[in-house]
Amino acid sequence: MPNFTLDDSVFEAAARQFPTPFYLYDARGIRETVRKLKAAFAWNPGFLEFYAVKALPNPHILSILLEEGCGLDCSSLTELMLAQRLNTPGENIMFSANAMPGEELAFARQLNARVNLDDLHDVATLAQCGGVPETVSLRVNPGLAIPLTNDIMGDGKDAKFGMTPAQLRPALEALQCHGAAGFGLHAMTQSNALDETYLSQNAGTLLKLGLELEQQTGMRLSYINLSGGLGIPYYPHQQPMDIARVGEHVRKVYEQALGRRKDVRVFCELGRFITGPHGFLVTRVIHRKSTWREYAGLDASASNLMRPAMYGAYHHIHIAGKREVPHDQVYDVTGPLCENNDKFAIQRGLPQVNIGDLLIIHDTGAHGHAMGYQYNGRLRGAEVLRGEYGSFRLIRRAETPEDYFSTLVN
Ligand SMILES: *Cc1c(COP(=O)(O)O)cnc(C)c1O
Repeated sequence: MPNFTLDDSVFEAAARQFPTPFYLYDARGIRETVRKLKAAFAWNPGFLEFYAVKALPNPHILSILLEEGCGLDCSSLTELMLAQRLNTPGENIMFSANAMPGEELAFARQLNARVNLDDLHDVATLAQCGGVPETVSLRVNPGLAIPLTNDIMGDGKDAKFGMTPAQLRPALEALQCHGAAGFGLHAMTQSNALDETYLSQNAGTLLKLGLELEQQTGMRLSYINLSGGLGIPYYPHQQPMDIARVGEHVRKVYEQALGRRKDVRVFCELGRFITGPHGFLVTRVIHRKSTWREYAGLDASASNLMRPAMYGAYHHIHIAGKREVPHDQVYDVTGPLCENNDKFAIQRGLPQVNIGDLLIIHDTGAHGHAMGYQYNGRLRGAEVLRGEYGSFRLIRRAETPEDYFSTLVN
């Protein structure tokens, strides 16, 4: 069930203050979600959520997450620079990248970030670029078959990420030669998973491997990183995850594997689950057209929100002021790109749509603005934060033609 915690009066007030299209993020919702997550894992004294920066890389949002006690999961030089600007302590930065350039590893080491290696060969690169720290994380690809409903990650063996279980031991032995004494294990096996045992399955896999590797190498398992991929209910018929139960499932698996031992920290890197439901793309209907189908044309395009065009992803849409009106019309809701997949919804039941209507596209607080691009010279829009007491703050201005031309060389 998409998030309906904000009244239409909120969207209407924001649209009086800022030109559409823009993203509206709800600070209160984000804080509440983090607090529920932390409560669900409070049984593990070392629990830490490293928010996946790529999902919503705005420093104003990241500051909220840091205030709530999260760390940051970064996957590129610029994401590391964001973490640096926010004075994130090194141990609260996870640097996870694949096909990792040496200079990015070196920068991560300079910040004292935790490093998550994707491949056996990365050990030598790390040794040369920045050096091997005391504890290093390895990303595992267990090669598990992934439920067919998962259209983002594909089958485990098709996924480009991580090393095979058999490669972990040689990687650890190589790290040990460079002085490492502890290790973490990381696996991300699904995306947008709505199964409440998803994270505990990762935990089971990682703990089993971790305990075997401790025996084999004499190194200490310091943490398991259950990663991201926990889902949100994009469709009206879907239910939100009960995060307390997710935490309980992980606790059971943890206690089964480790008995009384409590020193293995549990980490995760949720992105979508934390901010996804608390972001809204606020757009206006600027065109109507009736041909073979009925079209509602928006001032937003796939350059603001790519997920529907890229994955065929469903995002719930409602018209401000018409929530209770019967959804007895059918529309394709489109943007202005010269690209036929620039559609936010295809054959969607909605109330009668009129030019000037304010359309709210739900669940766009993760992998929304961040995936934007400039195709067709359509520029990315603004980001607005609704503070805890209801005031609005511009946290990123819309791009201008000057920005578009700024990278050209004479
Ligand atoms: C993308 C990503 C995440 C976050 O994914 P969500 O689906 O937003 O939870 C976490 N960890 C890694 C390594 C990622 O690539």
